[in-house]
Amino acid sequence: MKILCIGRNYAEHARELNNPVPAKPVVFLKPPTALLVNGKPLYYPGFTNDLHYELEVVLKVAKNGRHVQPEFASGYYNEIALGIDFTARDLQQECKEKGQPWEIAKAFDGSAVLGPFVPLDAVDAGAIEFELRKNGQVVQRGNTRDMIFSFEDIIVYVSRFFKLQMGDLIFTGTPAGVGPVQIGDKLDGYLYTRTEVMHLLSCEVK
Ligand code: MG
Repeated sequence: MKILCIGRNYAEHARELNNPVPAKPVVFLKPPTALLVNGKPLYYPGFTNDLHYELEVVLKVAKNGRHVQPEFASGYYNEIALGIDFTARDLQQECKEKGQPWEIAKAFDGSAVLGPFVPLDAVDAGAIEFELRKNGQVVQRGNTRDMIFSFEDIIVYVSRFFKLQMGDLIFTGTPAGVGPVQIGDKLDGYLYTRTEVMHLLSCEVK
């Protein structure tokens, strides 16, 4: 199982970090050891002083495929979840400035919180609304209709480089509103389905 992640997929978020809005998806990976089970705490890592949350919609890959063509892309996922792409923003900034890879800032142990999956037909797939609350306050609210690259675009693009395998996860990017966490903060992710607001994710920073 691999974890594929898309960066800068919401224009407003790209701008808040002074990044250009990308012409092609920005792709990076996290190893399976990055996964943090929903409800488990994240222990604030000693190598950063600026740990940020990024709430994202996560796709679960439903079948194997390479070089997926656009007309078939929607057949490659049928469940979604919410996840947090934890980021050591200070290390990431350092890596960016030096033109170095990002893994130490993005792919460390516990950097990928993952909630339970819900079937795609529970939501309006083109306009999934989701939000993150920090200590009860809404800090991020996103809608997948604002993505620069749609789920289908992402499947087509990443499968040119990486064979998709059933069970792979794809973090599809974060909307604006990212910010730091401190020890003691509680993060909760909510997904708006057709019929209810589901509390799908929770993580405390310890
Ligand atoms: Mg992210």
